[in-house]
Amino acid sequence: MKKSEILFSDELREYILSTLREEEALRRLRIETSKDQNAIWQIPPEQGQFLSFLIKLLGAKKALEIGTYTGYSALCVALALPDDGKVITCDISEDFTNIGRRYWQEACVAHKIDLRIARALDTLAALIASGEAGTFDFVFIDADKVNYDHYYEKSLTLLRPGGIIAIDNVLLFGSVIDPNLLDDELRARITDEDIRVVRTLNEKIKQDSRIDETMLPLADGLTLVRKR
Ligand code: CA
Repeated sequence: MKKSEILFSDELREYILSTLREEEALRRLRIETSKDQNAIWQIPPEQGQFLSFLIKLLGAKKALEIGTYTGYSALCVALALPDDGKVITCDISEDFTNIGRRYWQEACVAHKIDLRIARALDTLAALIASGEAGTFDFVFIDADKVNYDHYYEKSLTLLRPGGIIAIDNVLLFGSVIDPNLLDDELRARITDEDIRVVRTLNEKIKQDSRIDETMLPLADGLTLVRKR
C-alpha cells in the first residue's frame, strides 16, 4: 500500500490534485522534497490544503507542529494564519528544516514560524513549564510514531478547550490492521513498536471522554481531536 492510495485510483487522485489550490512556494518545496528518500513522510498537497482550511475555520492564531521535516505542513499552516499568528514547529534535524527555511522566506511567512531544534518532548515540556498550557488553538502531530501517545498527552495539555489536534499516519499504511500490508521499503521504516503505539492510541482516543474525535481516511489517515 503506497501513500495516498488507500481509497483512490491513480486517475481519481490525479483529478483531485488537479482541483487544488497550491501556492507556488508550496509546489516547489513539495517537488524538491519528493527527491528525498524520506519523502514518504511528507504530507500530500490535498492534506496540506485541508490543514490550511482548518486553521482558517478555527480562526487559529497560535499553532504547534510536532515534526517539521522539510517544512511543507508548517508552510501550509503559516500561510493560513493571520499576519500576527504564530506556529511553533519542532524537529531534531537542521538539514531537513533548512530546506523549509528557504521556502518560508520566499513565501514571506518566516516571521510566523518559530522553529525549535530539540527533542519535541523537551520543547513541549518547556512550553508547559513556561505557562503556555491551554493556549494553543491547533496542534499537528506528525513525528516519530513511538512517542505518539506522549505527544498526544502533552498536546492536549497545551490545547485550549475547543482547539483541535490533527494526528497524521493513524492508519500507518494499513499496518494497523495487518503488518503484512507493508511493502519491503515501508517494513524497513515502520517497527512493530510503531504499529503497537499507533493502534493503542487509536483505541485510547475512541474511549477518551476529554475530547470529541473523527478519523478521516485522508492520505495515510488523519484523526482530528477537539478538546472539550
Ligand atoms: Ca506524516
